[in-house]
Amino acid sequence: MYAYQPKKTACPYCGEIIELLIDCSVDEQRYIEDCQVCCRPITINVSIENGDPQLSTFDENDTF
Ligand SMILES: [Zn+2]
Repeated sequence: MYAYQPKKTACPYCGEIIELLIDCSVDEQRYIEDCQVCCRPITINVSIENGDPQLSTFDENDTF
C-alpha cells in the first residue's frame, strides 16, 4: 500500500521535532526540506523498508 505517511524527526540544527510527509511510492529518495522551526535546509534521506519509511537527516555540512 503506497501512500504519504507523516513521520516525525529531529532537526539536525535546532533539535526540534518536525513532521515530514513521506512519499512511500519511492523506495529511495533524498531531498532537502527547510526546517519548520529554524528554516535551515535539512537533507533528508528516505528508504522504504516493508512499507515503513526510514529517515536519516543530515545538515548541510555533512558529506556523503
Ligand atoms: Zn531546525
